[in-house]
Amino acid sequence: MEYLSRLLKVAGDHENFRFHPRCNRLKLNHLCFADDLMIFCRGDLAFVRILQDKLEFFANSSGLVATSSKSDMYLAVECERLVVRMTSKIRSWQVRNLSYAARLQLVSTVLMNITNFWCQIFVLPKKVLKQVNAICRAYLWHGKVDSDTPGWAFKKICKVKDRMGQWVHNSSYSIKEVYHELLGVGQPVNWVSFVWNRSSIPKARFILWLAVNERLKSRDKLATLGLILTDTCPSCGLISESHYHLFFACIYSLQCLRDILTWLGIRIISDSLADFASRK
Ligand SMILES: [Zn+2]
Repeated sequence: MEYLSRLLKVAGDHENFRFHPRCNRLKLNHLCFADDLMIFCRGDLAFVRILQDKLEFFANSSGLVATSSKSDMYLAVECERLVVRMTSKIRSWQVRNLSYAARLQLVSTVLMNITNFWCQIFVLPKKVLKQVNAICRAYLWHGKVDSDTPGWAFKKICKVKDRMGQWVHNSSYSIKEVYHELLGVGQPVNWVSFVWNRSSIPKARFILWLAVNERLKSRDKLATLGLILTDTCPSCGLISESHYHLFFACIYSLQCLRDILTWLGIRIISDSLADFASRK
């Protein structure tokens, strides 16, 4: 073992040899304990080969050959490469000025797939995972990899904190006032009781609220965001499925609406959902 130790030390003195990054300062490439031996170096083939040559030299001179069935090999990965790969991908996308939805799609498909692939092979350190999250977050919210500006949620919290500080300082703090102040003054609408009433289930209320505000994810909006290829209405297959088309222009939905209104005995001529919802 003394002889092998000397041979490995000579391997360490080789001008082309590189130590394991954590052993570089001590110039350490092996440890012996009783009849157990640990050998380590930087994980490149050339450096492993230098050590292997010494082991073969030892085997030829002493007749003692390392048993492969009793030996194990451990590889550690340099996680910097993962970070570099992700940032280079983002830099290539940066020039395209993509929308939020497109960036979300890229983060959830491409960037997360790269990370998942690495996670399947290696146990990634917590620090690297945090770094990956920070890269994805920065690209998603700011469209670039090296953004140091805080997100909208953080800005909002700071704003609320400042204003609350003013109220507390003025010693006229009231939760009701703060609530109304933060909420702001909205424009009153006359369809409130139609949408927010207790006779319908919460899910239907929410969908109706989106519909009245023209915020449903109709196909024309999804196509604009690049999430679908064609915006043609799937019911009639004739033209683009816009909000207006969905409720008042599509042959199919118009027929449904007329039949239901006839059945309910309601006679309304309107082509706006907000007008329809605000009827008395
Ligand atoms: Zn249609």
